Amino acid sequence: MSVDPNTPVLRNCIRLPLPEDELIEVTAKAKDYAIMHGAAMRSKSNFSEDSLNFAPFVLVPSSFPRKEFEKAVALQPIINRLMHNVAHDEEFITTTLAETIKVDEFTANLFNIYRKVLAHGFTQRTSLGMLRSDLMLESGCPELSPKALLWRGEADEDGQATAAAAVAVAAGTGSGGGVGVGVCGGKPRAKAKTMEEEEDEAAVKRNVQLSRATVSGVSTSTVASKDRKAAAYCCWKQVEINTIASGFGHLGPASKTVQSFVLRELGHADKLPNMPHNNALAGLCDGMVKAWDIYAKPQSVILFIIEDVSYNICDQRFHEFYIRETYPHIKVLRRTLTDVHREGKLGLNKELLLGGLEVAVIYFRAGYEPGHYHSQDEWDARYLMETSLAIKCPSIQYHLAGTKKVQQALAQPAVLERFINDPEEMKAVGKIFTGLYSLDDNEAGNASYEMALRTPEKFVLKPQREGGGNNVYGVDIPDALKRMSRVERSAWILMDLIHPPLTKGYMVRPGAEMPPTIVDMVSELGIFGVVIGDADHIIHNYQAGHMLRTKLSTANEGGVAAGLGALDSPYLIDSDDEDEN
Ligand code: ADP
Ligand code: MG
Repeated sequence: MSVDPNTPVLRNCIRLPLPEDELIEVTAKAKDYAIMHGAAMRSKSNFSEDSLNFAPFVLVPSSFPRKEFEKAVALQPIINRLMHNVAHDEEFITTTLAETIKVDEFTANLFNIYRKVLAHGFTQRTSLGMLRSDLMLESGCPELSPKALLWRGEADEDGQATAAAAVAVAAGTGSGGGVGVGVCGGKPRAKAKTMEEEEDEAAVKRNVQLSRATVSGVSTSTVASKDRKAAAYCCWKQVEINTIASGFGHLGPASKTVQSFVLRELGHADKLPNMPHNNALAGLCDGMVKAWDIYAKPQSVILFIIEDVSYNICDQRFHEFYIRETYPHIKVLRRTLTDVHREGKLGLNKELLLGGLEVAVIYFRAGYEPGHYHSQDEWDARYLMETSLAIKCPSIQYHLAGTKKVQQALAQPAVLERFINDPEEMKAVGKIFTGLYSLDDNEAGNASYEMALRTPEKFVLKPQREGGGNNVYGVDIPDALKRMSRVERSAWILMDLIHPPLTKGYMVRPGAEMPPTIVDMVSELGIFGVVIGDADHIIHNYQAGHMLRTKLSTANEGGVAAGLGALDSPYLIDSDDEDEN
């Protein structure tokens, strides 16, 4: 993917480049530190169950605006509730996925399980949702200019709102505009530019250049830093919401551990307070244990459903070890879908039994892509679990609620209204959606199709898949769309491309040349949420830590295991911070 040369750059946590000898020494230490603190994965190219490689990581934490981070954290319980309500709206899920399941076999298989479970009635009414809302800062808003943005002017107002209510904080993104079309709505500005606006744009360009100069270590600006920083982004937008196998509960906090070590080694311990506490591992595992408590059988176990081969092993084993160390009375099992087909059966009260053990909670770390279902056996195993008394994370309705098609439907204000009553919450959530468009075989879908053919560079095309590597970007979209029949298109959605600001730093990868060089990168923040309840009540609802993944700015996707992304953690910056030193 090509990057717009005018893309703004966020200022760095510390001044780079590092002197070469210092860089070589700290990188070598950090690699060992990462392996020895579980910031690691199994090698794909040289796989062995007996060894680990460090996971790719960014040496020094990437900057992220504090205000936007806090808004995302504050909004998570509202997103949790939204997704819980969506998952329990049978009519909505059925109508939203109606076209998709005609052509997407995988979603259709999931939906068939849902239909059968509905027909027989839910054996277990309680669901455990462990969600992750992924987001990127947006720097490409047409309105983005120091004046239009009023970046600082609004900070005080927002600050007050933080104390008053999470909702108001989240609603405070920018000013003006209705749901989904706020300051950061990403809609093209139709009216002619005024002279003032022209000046603003010139100021933005000037500031971008200044900020680049700052990052590369050349002289810092004499222009008010307020303008330069305000120009780097205008808001954040949701990339997707994950309801199944939301990873990095361990690797998120582990990234902070590694980067804190690096900052201390480099003599920047004073920077550590700007790295927010990350309780993702405890927050997620405690969610499983709360579900186990609700199940209320002392001998019952927690089951992790895993892939045939787990490369991202630390991000599963640390969950298991945390549970075993914190709650030694709760046993954890790991099984593939194939294992469950072979060993699993239902007891008299539809308890899921594996060998002699009763399963209270099922945590799916696999089952989200077609490759995990080798044959009908694995689908039968999924169905067996869905009909059982065990509390599922996710239950089938939560899995379906996490599809891209549902996300696209939710981005429409009239649809969002169905699930959120509070107008402030509505406004706050509406603003996080970037343009999302149906490609169904109808008038609206055909209009989106034409739009994608006309200006493909503005979009990303997504199928109903998880796990990365499935999307089609920019100029590749027309060919992909033209290969599909009208009906086949309904398996996909179209989404506005988000343009995150750049950061500059060192990415450290196993097997890569030493010392690393400075590269342009972009980050994606994930906020975890836990929600437990049934159709009528929510029993637990909380935000549970975060993760940051960073990729080369030229890469379309940033999967860490896929080799393009790297572990990172946010270094929170404020609008009135001084430049790095
Ligand atoms: P998956 O379920 O496969 O993770 P995502 O929707 O998260 O699918 O897309 C994968 C990756 O593609 C994201 O992590 C992000 O790097 C990139 N991406 C997705 N949507 C957008 C978008 N609208 N703008 C920019 N990048 C995007
Ligand atoms: Mg994703």
